[in-house]
Amino acid sequence: MVQPDIQSLLHQNRLLTEEVKRRIDQLGAINMVAATVSQSLDLDVTLKTALRAVLDVIGAEAGGISLIDEKSREVVLRAQQGWPHDWVTQPMRIPFGQGMSGQVITRDELVVDNDLDGTETLAVPQFHNEKFRAIAMAPMHARGRIIGILSIMSNQRDAFNTEIVALLKSVADTVGIALDNARLYETTAEQEERLRAIYQATGEGIIATDLQGRISLINHAAATIFDVNADSLIGTPLRDAPINPRVRDSLLHALSASSGEKKSFQVNLDTKLLSIVVTSIIIESTVDQIEHNDGWVIVVQDITHFREADIQKSEFIRAAAHDMKNPLGVALGSLNLLNEFIGPDDPSSQELIQLGLNGINRLQDLINDLLHLEQIEHGYGVSMIEFDLHALIQEAVSDIKPLLAEKNLTCTVEAADSLPKITADRRWVKRALMNYLDNATKYTEPGDQITARTYANGPLLYVEVSDNGPGIPVEAQSRLFERFYRAADDRVKGTGLGLAIVKSVAEKHGGGVFVKSQANKGSTFGMTLRWDNSPAAKPVG
Ligand code: ADP
Repeated sequence: MVQPDIQSLLHQNRLLTEEVKRRIDQLGAINMVAATVSQSLDLDVTLKTALRAVLDVIGAEAGGISLIDEKSREVVLRAQQGWPHDWVTQPMRIPFGQGMSGQVITRDELVVDNDLDGTETLAVPQFHNEKFRAIAMAPMHARGRIIGILSIMSNQRDAFNTEIVALLKSVADTVGIALDNARLYETTAEQEERLRAIYQATGEGIIATDLQGRISLINHAAATIFDVNADSLIGTPLRDAPINPRVRDSLLHALSASSGEKKSFQVNLDTKLLSIVVTSIIIESTVDQIEHNDGWVIVVQDITHFREADIQKSEFIRAAAHDMKNPLGVALGSLNLLNEFIGPDDPSSQELIQLGLNGINRLQDLINDLLHLEQIEHGYGVSMIEFDLHALIQEAVSDIKPLLAEKNLTCTVEAADSLPKITADRRWVKRALMNYLDNATKYTEPGDQITARTYANGPLLYVEVSDNGPGIPVEAQSRLFERFYRAADDRVKGTGLGLAIVKSVAEKHGGGVFVKSQANKGSTFGMTLRWDNSPAAKPVG
């Protein structure tokens, strides 16, 4: 049996102990640097503290940290310590690939020169003025790429032995990660600042709330629209905010909607008309990766000028419609006479006459809609009688049977039990319902499904018509009930007045209109009507 060489064993043991000690020292140094640099997310602070910590741990006299500027493709000196001259205020910039730093970056390796004697060719020759005699440079990595260079310098030749260089290599990545985090944080902060500038500059009012409805953000435009002091409202629950109660109640109602829904509506104040879109903020939890509602964003637009333009437009149209009605009647009568006069023997002339008749009929539809609107808005000939709304809906659905059959649509009627009788203008309520049903048949695809339903809630009866048609983008929803507004493409014929008529009818009966729709998921158009509109009852709104 070979006796182990005691001396050699002892020697190996000593080497091992030294290695373990060196590793422990190295780990201690990395920990120390890591603990120091992770204390701040300010990039300038992190640069300075990181460099100080590295020099302390390694015991070097001078050092520098350069970062890569991807845009200008340069390595830029961002921190220095122990250098005779200032190279940071007017930073030293070295183009990619040049000098010693070029070597570090392109080869992704440490560069050590323990004998700088002033004869080296440098990317920045003035660096010789610093009179350093030794330098070691290590690439710093973060998120799988080089983000800069950590350098140490000495005034002594041969200052950096392999142990020091190994230590520099180990701490470089720790510093790199801390700097990258700080840079990321700064970029995020910059983006936040840019966003803040955008939402403060926009003409639309923006309010954000948390899940409990507490205001977390309100921009200048919103503060102006609601005539409030933005700063004093931060943290205030929306229900306590000193804004117009009618707007506040509508907002609170919208905020109670199920998450993920966008709500769009208009609020008519005495001096202003506001268009409001409420959207819930959905974020993915970083803990369980489940999406949940984190609050709401309210976008408010003052569209009073639209209303003013609308009033002028309607006055003009009303006058024009009256004036057009008579000549059109004459033209229609003449064409009909001509049709009879020509007889079936001249099909080409009859086809031309039919084209003319179609055009006149469409023009008459438009004029009739306009006049309907005028009549309902002014309450001409409105007569309130008591009737059964469910029966009226069935009658209306029966009237549109030919339209349903044409497109192979099905229409079901749902009515809640024990519906109170309504006192209203039966003719106008039917006209409004027919407009909803007409649209549902017009905008759906063959074979689609329509449902008309009615139910009561407090003093109001609800009438809704749902379809599984194309739906309407949320941006268009708040304008649908405006006169002449058409969201659909022009292939579907219409005047853009049908919904404005429904709105006027509902408002004349102490109610309002609403729409719930998502693109490609169908639409529900609804109106509310006070069921007791007898003269003794006091209408709301
Ligand atoms: P129109 O004469 O254009 O039908 P309306 O006032 O009745 O005028 O409707 C206004 C717009 O609302 C329509 O042009 C269409 O874009 C949209 N719309 C109404 N009802 C529906 C529906 N059921 N599905 C999809 N879009 C609809």
